[in-house]
Amino acid sequence: MAAPVKCSYCPSTAGVRTYTTQWPRQERMCRGCASTYFRAARKRAVETLSEEYGDASDAALWAQCHIIAWWLSEPDPDVRAVGAVLLVQATRYHREFGDRAWRVFPSARDRGRQRGHATRSAAYETVHVPYDVPWLRRLYGDRCLYCGVASEHIDHVQPLALGGADAPWNVAPACKSCNLSKGKKALAAWLPGRLLSVHAERARAQWAEWTAA
Ligand SMILES: [Zn+2]
Ligand SMILES: [Zn+2]
Repeated sequence: MAAPVKCSYCPSTAGVRTYTTQWPRQERMCRGCASTYFRAARKRAVETLSEEYGDASDAALWAQCHIIAWWLSEPDPDVRAVGAVLLVQATRYHREFGDRAWRVFPSARDRGRQRGHATRSAAYETVHVPYDVPWLRRLYGDRCLYCGVASEHIDHVQPLALGGADAPWNVAPACKSCNLSKGKKALAAWLPGRLLSVHAERARAQWAEWTAA
């Protein structure tokens, strides 16, 4: 029989599993050590993101106002409603991030997704302001910005291909179906048609709830 596997941080052999710590590095830890490790790592990550955001804040604020002003000037009331949601959520994102975001843990999939976004925005040469996917998901209750069902993807509301920023005010959770159907289309060119094939009243009720809270 193989010797029981020991935790890398304590003598325990109970419930030891392999975790991806600093991707791609993996370590064996017991539940207690894993919990301590990931809480501390998450706190550090949130602090680093807060500092990076502070460094980028002037450019970020300008870009944020610019894009949201544009959405709010669109003639379609549903497009304006989505712009208003982004404005409110971006404000909430920054107001509560430092104090609350460390309690929300990223899934392995979201960690991979965030690395992928940074690479893609560099390829498109668009504005990149670091943001936190798990915190975004929490703000939206993990629901799709466009139709209100459970979200799986993260969408750039103004696509990177059209110069959209990879930044907190231009990203939101989206269901796979909305994300794939939107593709590289501008919000105003896609949303009115999309609302004909989803539960539009549920989507509008969701926007009203997000902007009221
Ligand atoms: Zn341990
Ligand atoms: Zn959707």
